[in-house]
Amino acid sequence: MASPFDSVRWIWVNGEMVPFADAKVHLLTHALHYGSAWFEGIRCYETVSGSAVFRLRDHMVRLETSCKLYRADLPYTVDELCRATVETIQANELPACYIRPIIWRGFGSVGVNPLPCPVEAAIAVWPWGSYLGEGAADAGVDVCVSSWRRTNSESLPSIAKAAGGYLNCQLVKMEALLAGFAEGIALDSDGYVSEGSSENLFLVQDGVLWTPPLCCSILPGITRDTVLKIAQEDGIPVREEHISRGALYACDELFLTGTAAEITPVRSVDRIPVRAHGPGPVTRQLQARFNAVIRGETLDRHGWLTPVPALVPVGAGG
Ligand code: PMP
Repeated sequence: MASPFDSVRWIWVNGEMVPFADAKVHLLTHALHYGSAWFEGIRCYETVSGSAVFRLRDHMVRLETSCKLYRADLPYTVDELCRATVETIQANELPACYIRPIIWRGFGSVGVNPLPCPVEAAIAVWPWGSYLGEGAADAGVDVCVSSWRRTNSESLPSIAKAAGGYLNCQLVKMEALLAGFAEGIALDSDGYVSEGSSENLFLVQDGVLWTPPLCCSILPGITRDTVLKIAQEDGIPVREEHISRGALYACDELFLTGTAAEITPVRSVDRIPVRAHGPGPVTRQLQARFNAVIRGETLDRHGWLTPVPALVPVGAGG
């Protein structure tokens, strides 16, 4: 069966392009035992003027912040990681792809103390379609409220995108999938709505856009920020305030945001249909504006698109 990785030739590892099959780590890698890795998920899109990475610098700054929180000295600057990302896409000749930069504590010693371990870096790219299923952006998805709570950010800072934290997300995701839902929504430790296993959440009630604030143990999503900025530009009133579980069932529209999921409408929660039962008018408006931005069809006023110039093979052309 064809795999999205069949078309991947190179992975950038610690400053070098390494053939896909050779990009490996030692079994005693600290991150494997203790979850000490930090990563990003970024997308490169085909725009009207060639391939471009969406909000590349913002993602790398978040990666830098994640490492800083865990006292891991990032061996590369944000600019170096941005350049390496563009080079990795070029090397693999992928016009559109998902990008996974990862920083991890490698092999140095085995024990909880991570400080003796080297900090290593890699950037992988591969083609990746719709995360929550084909057609999800139009039809919407069915979700449930998870029985698992989102890890409290007093114990694990949710502003850091750390590998270890994703054990909580895996519990939410598996429970949802095995019960026949596309995604699970975790509440925070106080019972307010937090986020999906890898998406932030928005609801629309009486024309107002609501999303949980950062203090509800959410990852500060870059798509969330994009939606907030677009809504502001479009004059849609926004409230970053606590959302009760009940509001999920009562709202007019509900959608999830994330680099992988983009803007995915929710059509039911725990089998209770959301009033719009698919993308409602505000969701559609935001999706259309978001799609125009990522495809470079509107003025890039925030400098969100980093072009990936196509490499001209040596000896080609006139
Ligand atoms: N929350 C979690 C837990 C995530 O893993 C993600 C995906 N990175 C998001 C939210 C959405 O963040 P972004 O829009 O930056 O992809």
